[in-house]
Amino acid sequence: MLMDKHGRSVSYLRLSITDKCNLRCFYCQGVRDPLVKHKEILRYEDMEKFLLVAESIGIKKVRLTGGEPFLRRNFWDFLEKLGKEFNNFDFRLTTNGTLIKSKKELLKLKELGFKGLNVSLDTFDKDKFLQITGSSYLNQVLQTIFWGLEAGLKIKINAVALKGLNDKELVDFANFAYKYPVDVRFIEFMPIGQKTRWKKEYFWSAQDILRQLTQEVEVLPLDSQEQTAGPARVFQISGGKGRIGVISPLSDHFCDRCNRLRITSQGRLRPCLFSDREYKLLALVRNPKLSLKHLEKVISLAIKHKPVGAHLLEKNKNKVCDSAMVGIGG
Ligand code: SAM
Repeated sequence: MLMDKHGRSVSYLRLSITDKCNLRCFYCQGVRDPLVKHKEILRYEDMEKFLLVAESIGIKKVRLTGGEPFLRRNFWDFLEKLGKEFNNFDFRLTTNGTLIKSKKELLKLKELGFKGLNVSLDTFDKDKFLQITGSSYLNQVLQTIFWGLEAGLKIKINAVALKGLNDKELVDFANFAYKYPVDVRFIEFMPIGQKTRWKKEYFWSAQDILRQLTQEVEVLPLDSQEQTAGPARVFQISGGKGRIGVISPLSDHFCDRCNRLRITSQGRLRPCLFSDREYKLLALVRNPKLSLKHLEKVISLAIKHKPVGAHLLEKNKNKVCDSAMVGIGG
């Protein structure tokens, strides 16, 4: 496993499948850069080469994200290939859950070796859903969650914490996690991208969420080992099946434990979400004269110089980077 110069080992890759999304979420905007041409977007064979290098440098976990991964043409064929040829990885997937057509599809995903599915769901209210995502797919998203559970996938629900939009629904989310074996994680709204709508008024901090949670819901703290397994701090709901918690990239960052790398849909290696320092690897990965060893060298060097996002946050609280989440891969 490779280490950066701050002593962090990198074992987790987030691979963006596409920069397209069928939703226009309030916090993400989902609008791809119109100047990016199709040929500038990673092809599946490019992604496979990145995965080969990832394997050789000790990456263990790979999350497929985007944009909305299920919008990409022939995505199921790619998933099958990953299941057959890259089965050393712990594969995960992040989706908005609007394009899954049947439980059979999620059974297939499980069969291919995927253990879990992260589904974005910010509200249970259909009007709020329209307001936040610009769409009326709430029932489809819920159906995907239920199918996922039935298929035996570990379901994590990502809800972006938005004061004035979903802050009255904490108990509804807790009730959902009481009833179903899901992990609900409220993620602090991050000021990402030039067009971000981030404002202090919308910011609902992890601390406030947890304070409200412990006042309104009976939760049991998990043992400390489990709490630090990832960036989320999650709590079992007393007597319930699931857990609820927070991810606090702004108020209590976890940069000292960050083990992630991202490869954007344009084939740019992005070692830190908050830093626009990217390594343009598309031409390199497509160059038939260069071997994977060459790519490995560049990636290893980029890992060594992985920035610390918290330092950038300190400098500029209201806009951490220019690139939009839809292109980076959430
Ligand atoms: N289309 C997929 C989906 O909707 O889950 C994957 C891409 S989406 C960009 C991935 C995640 O990014 C979402 O779960 C959302 O919670 C998170 N996200 C996007 N913009 C964010 C922001 N400004 N602050 C916090 N989380 C954000």
